[in-house]
Amino acid sequence: MDNGSTSRNGGLVHLDDVHKTYRSGEMEVRAVRGVSLDIQQGEFVALMGASGSGKSTLMNILGCLDRPSAGRYILDRSDVSGLDRDELADIRNSKIGFVFQGFNLLPRTSALENVELPLLYGKHRLSNAQLREKADAVLASVGLQGREDHHPSQLSGGQQQRVAIARALINDPEVLLADEPTGNLDSRTSVEIMGVFQQLNERGITIIMVTHEPDIASYARRNVVMRDGLVQSDRAVSQPLDAKLEAQKLMSVDESPKM
Ligand code: ADP
Ligand code: MG
Repeated sequence: MDNGSTSRNGGLVHLDDVHKTYRSGEMEVRAVRGVSLDIQQGEFVALMGASGSGKSTLMNILGCLDRPSAGRYILDRSDVSGLDRDELADIRNSKIGFVFQGFNLLPRTSALENVELPLLYGKHRLSNAQLREKADAVLASVGLQGREDHHPSQLSGGQQQRVAIARALINDPEVLLADEPTGNLDSRTSVEIMGVFQQLNERGITIIMVTHEPDIASYARRNVVMRDGLVQSDRAVSQPLDAKLEAQKLMSVDESPKM
């Protein structure tokens, strides 16, 4: 029997008629106007839509960076819609990893130290050896073993984004949120990053990724399209692109003789 409660219990994210209105002086912008959405653990969702359709606003709410003006947000079975700033920060630190378009790495700091940083602010007190071990493990999980001591300027764009992904994973989040993670990357490097996401997703990590590029969205398993602050369409991707295969195709194009 399915009365809706089963999916809610198994669900990681449950948005119920969420609204967000920005007010500044006389101006009122209704950025999100009633979004209901369920995302299960282990999904890989691409959130799409034109510029100004409310994607970042919705991601800020999903990431507990901001609260809905109205409606409910249940994350991992607890209602976070009414929490204050400090409580939201706690949820964020323990349950959410963020990847941004601009990497946001500290420039004069090694890959290892960039990745360790969130742990220093975390609740668990770890010894230096434990910190190092954990950071080494997540760097290896995104294919950066051997690069631990490189500074961002010594890494390619794709490698810098991998460091940012490793940093987002260091606290074992329930969900990885990425806003335009390939926005600054060329197409080959974008495929490389989609490969990292697909590998993480195969290991069970839930990913919600904003993109305006349809080809990037086809690496996800579900596409949610927003328009004017509402969900316009929500569908499963019948055959997601496989980043490993797409990367091979790009290689063979390079290797074929020039006409
Ligand atoms: P997207 O990420 O899809 O481009 P946004 O969520 O950034 O869309 O913006 C949705 C709407 O809300 C836009 O009209 C934008 O101008 C407005 N908006 C976003 N952030 C703010 C803010 N902090 N204050 C006022 N208006 C905002
Ligand atoms: Mg945006």
